[in-house]
Amino acid sequence: MKKTLQKAGVRTHADLRENYNTGWKFNHWELKGVPVRIEIGPRDLKNNQVVVVRRDTGVKATLQNENLDDQLSKLLDTIHDDMYNRALVERDANMAVTTNWEEFCKLLDQKKIIQAPYCGDISCEEIIKKESARTEVTEDDKAPAMGAKSLCIPFDQPADATCETCIQQNCCKPATAYTLFGRSY
Ligand SMILES: [Zn+2]
Repeated sequence: MKKTLQKAGVRTHADLRENYNTGWKFNHWELKGVPVRIEIGPRDLKNNQVVVVRRDTGVKATLQNENLDDQLSKLLDTIHDDMYNRALVERDANMAVTTNWEEFCKLLDQKKIIQAPYCGDISCEEIIKKESARTEVTEDDKAPAMGAKSLCIPFDQPADATCETCIQQNCCKPATAYTLFGRSY
C-alpha cells in the first residue's frame, strides 16, 4: 500500500513500530502535522478497506482499497481547498477599509487588518506606527500594544486611493495607494 501511494505521488510513511500503542502513534503523527492518517486493523484487512482520518477536521471515513491512491489524492486536494477557503473567510472577516484615523485606531484595537489610503512616505509610516501604539493600559483593560505597520499594497484596491489624503491625521499629502496595515504581536 505504501508503495502504491508513493507511486501516485503521495508522501507516505508506515509506522510499524511494535513498542508503541496506536494512541501514542496517532498523537505523535498529529503533532508532526500529517494531514491524513490511515489506520489498518485486522477487520480492515479482512474487508479490504482502510480507515482514513483527516487532521484538519478529525473526520473519519472508511475507504475501499481499490483505487486508494486516487481516492487519497482527491482527499488531499479537498483538504487543501477546505483549509484555504477557511483561511480566506477568516481573513476577509478580519479585514476592514477606512479613510478615518480614529476609526483606524478603533479597528486596530479590534485586531483587524486595515486597508487605508497612505502617501507612501517612510517618515509618515513612522508617525502612524507611533500614534497607533497603545502605551498604557486603557479603561476597558486593554494591555499596551505595538503600533500598526504597513504589510503590503493589495493588488485589488478597494477604491481609487488618489482621491483621498493620507490616513495619518497630520499628513496633508495625497494618498498613492490603499495600503494594508496591521499590528504586530
Ligand atoms: Zn502620509
